[in-house]
Amino acid sequence: TTEALRALDQAHHLHPFTDVGAYQKSGGRIVTRGEHIYFYDSEGSKVLDGMSGLWCCNLGYSQPKIVEAIHEQLQVLPFYNNFFQCSNDMAVKMAEAMAQVTPEHLNHVFFTNSGSEANDTNIKIVHRYYQILGKPEKKHFIARNNAYHGSTVAASSLSGMTFMHDQYTGIDYVHHIQQPYYFGEGGDLTPEEFGLQAARELEKKIEELGEDKVAAFIAEPIQGAGGVIIPPDTYWPEIQRICNEHDILLISDEVICGFGRTGSWFGCQTYGFKPDLMTFAKAVTNGFQALGGVMISDKIAEVLAQGKGDFAHGMTYSGHPVACAAGLATLDILRSQHTIENMAKEIGPYFEQRWKSLEDHPIVGEARAKNMVAALELVKHKGSKERLAPNAAASIVCRDQAIKEGLLVRAVGEAMVCAPPIVCSKQDIDTIIERMFRALDYTAKQYLR
Ligand code: PLP
Repeated sequence: TTEALRALDQAHHLHPFTDVGAYQKSGGRIVTRGEHIYFYDSEGSKVLDGMSGLWCCNLGYSQPKIVEAIHEQLQVLPFYNNFFQCSNDMAVKMAEAMAQVTPEHLNHVFFTNSGSEANDTNIKIVHRYYQILGKPEKKHFIARNNAYHGSTVAASSLSGMTFMHDQYTGIDYVHHIQQPYYFGEGGDLTPEEFGLQAARELEKKIEELGEDKVAAFIAEPIQGAGGVIIPPDTYWPEIQRICNEHDILLISDEVICGFGRTGSWFGCQTYGFKPDLMTFAKAVTNGFQALGGVMISDKIAEVLAQGKGDFAHGMTYSGHPVACAAGLATLDILRSQHTIENMAKEIGPYFEQRWKSLEDHPIVGEARAKNMVAALELVKHKGSKERLAPNAAASIVCRDQAIKEGLLVRAVGEAMVCAPPIVCSKQDIDTIIERMFRALDYTAKQYLR
């Protein structure tokens, strides 16, 4: 029964990013089934999943080809590693497929199980690269405020969420700069001016630390978990210029933006920049198996090949054959059905337009979207940006009401965030907007009596 499952969950299961004591008292929703873009819970509620699982089930929950690929692989070779001068055939095929779907200069992959491990891997690759080049002092990383790059010790150091740093001692060679959050920090500037200003924070930080000490800049093309921060168009070209001129490696964390979400295969293509390293995870298997990795440029791979001795890094499950089989099936669907290209022509722009129409609601200060990733800012008075309630309480009310309306969206600070499966129909999108509107109406009534 639901009661029994909930009691066991409370007794034995510690949840990620959850207040342990509070959860042990309250318990949560037990999800038991997924179908197309919906999930069902143990009490029979059917919820439209406006977060694609956790930004990963881009193709929704019903993908029999991926399930079959996993099943077949389990029968043939359920596990083999990639140590001992061995490869497994699925890892080889997946490495080639990733080289094909990513930008032309990224032809090498190191597989991990998650985005966090992939970002740790980035740090090790970058350090190894500069050691081989005889520049070991080039070891500092620059990331952005409020970024999320994962939860391992190194990845949470790259992350710019201060509440994470308050709880853990991370690595000490990571520095954070402004995020290009126009609604919150743009002031009187135009978006274009603000984009340049935010990018130039990187140049200032490089000059402060010394260019001979800075190894790399890491960022998401669109910051996802930090509140769907869509940069002004001037931002990424300026970042690219700064990295080129100061000889700083550029790492694109595509864990959320990858595999179609922003309208191209990868977010760096949407914004036209050329990363040296690229982190991926989540939607690479449509979330059905744990797989992540780093795509490595030819330039970096050539240097790594000159290093003496082992690259001292690896996980038992790096290139797990079952995860790679799931990845291959996912890429095969995306390629053969032209899912991303079709979505970017029709459904992405439709979602953008419908989501932006939520700005008509009196408590929405801004509604922003780029293809299938969106956020809106809750405010008390349009124009003034005054918030509805202290401590982002209103976004929790809105989130909880949305789920009662049958829509899962996420509350991030004062923003409501939505990233539905890219296989939604126009009708599905209309349903999302109607349910979101009702949740906004309810929230407005709670605070604007
Ligand atoms: N990087 C980004 C941009 C993410 O959004 C996440 C997770 O949400 C990660 C890295 C960490 O990935 P994982 O949860 O697979 O470790």
